[in-house]
Amino acid sequence: MIRPTDERLSHYDVVIAGARCAGAATALLLAREGLRVLVIDPMRPGSDTLSTHALMRGAVLQLHRWGLLDRIRTAGTPRIRTTTFHYGDESVEVRIKAREGVDALYAPRRTVLDPILLDAARDAGAEVRFGHSLVGLVPDRTGRVRGARINVDGTEYPVSADLVVGADGRHSRVARLVDAPIDQAASHTTASIYGYHRDVGLEGFHWFYRVGASVGTIQTNFEATCVFASVPPERLAAVGGAGIEGLYRTVLAEVSPTLAGRVAGSTRSGGLRAFAGTRGYFRRSVGPGWALVGDAGYFKDPLTAHGITDALRDAELLARAVATGGDGAMRDYQDTRNEVARGLFAVTDRIASFQWDLEEARALHQALSREMNAELELLERFDTPCRATWPLAERP
Ligand SMILES: Cc1cc2nc3c(=O)[nH]c(=O)nc-3n(C[C@H](O)[C@H](O)[C@H](O)COP(=O)(O)OP(=O)(O)OC[C@H]3O[C@@H](n4cnc5c(N)ncnc54)[C@H](O)[C@@H]3O)c2cc1C
Repeated sequence: MIRPTDERLSHYDVVIAGARCAGAATALLLAREGLRVLVIDPMRPGSDTLSTHALMRGAVLQLHRWGLLDRIRTAGTPRIRTTTFHYGDESVEVRIKAREGVDALYAPRRTVLDPILLDAARDAGAEVRFGHSLVGLVPDRTGRVRGARINVDGTEYPVSADLVVGADGRHSRVARLVDAPIDQAASHTTASIYGYHRDVGLEGFHWFYRVGASVGTIQTNFEATCVFASVPPERLAAVGGAGIEGLYRTVLAEVSPTLAGRVAGSTRSGGLRAFAGTRGYFRRSVGPGWALVGDAGYFKDPLTAHGITDALRDAELLARAVATGGDGAMRDYQDTRNEVARGLFAVTDRIASFQWDLEEARALHQALSREMNAELELLERFDTPCRATWPLAERP
């Protein structure tokens, strides 16, 4: 374990708290720009997190452009050729069309995706320290953040940095330390329960809807299918931890008796995991010497399975702003993120309300698809690297 002893050596262009999809992707892109990057995370290397796995086309396009899609495939991540929406007894299958070098979707386990991003960041020159947490920020006399305080095994040490990035998830410490306000909050959230099953016998992504609930299957690594059940959070709260197994089976049977039968005949590996729900938000995500990326800055309900795609998109927006240089570019990062995410956020909030009938659910998915196309058009424009101008702002 690294224990820096000489503070004079510990200056980085960028320090990133959080080494999962948002932090690792940001580190990768900035290190490829030639910046000196430190990424820290209290987690153990390769550990799992509370999340299912469906990547939307934008994320797959970015992984492809970053040269990482082959690593995802080599890890045995199945190609997803179709997404099927089941509205009651009616099914609509969407085949994944080839576009910009992407002809399939993927749903890597987080124990696969996050290490691939992090290894690539390391290959590009980023320094990664596990078991290290950001516990404080170091401001200068104008209030601009100039570094971070990091804790390892109860011992704190400072590092100086031109930019500190909070990629530290929904409970972001960086957001709390800079007192970043919530600029917009969602009205609804969903709770979900998921597990991993073998031999479910369904390929691709399947999303099933009935009024008041939704279930789905996501083909992932290790020959497993991730099966989830989503409900209004009150239903999960009413059964408590002990009732999770029963609620999972009940909701599967309510929404799709056929899927419930398949799941009953399958082998589950490991226990069920539950998410009690968190309302989405846009948080102020830039300030003097700091930025937030991924769930730290923007979160929306997981029912539309778009958070990882958001995180990779915003890592690229942030890295491009940093490469452009200046506080104005950083504000553009936040504005562009908000603009591209606003529609996705609104549609997701409506879907998460569970206050729709099946006809409206279908219309909402069409609206979601239009928003994802707009997002893709933005990402497709990012086909040229831009060079870093550094530091971000002149020192006073
Ligand atoms: C139940 C559920 C299902 C989901 N399903 C999907 C899906 O199918 N598809 C999809 O795209 N998205 C899904 N999401 C959303 C997705 O998981 C998130 O959007 C994504 O994980 C955000 O990545 P992140 O890197 O911003 O944050 P995280 O993945 O939360 O990572 C944050 C990291 O920061 C670290 N950290 C925390 N505090 C500190 C600190 N003080 N110092 C240093 N590091 C710190 C943590 O240890 C953690 O490793 C789901 C979410 C949930 C809850």
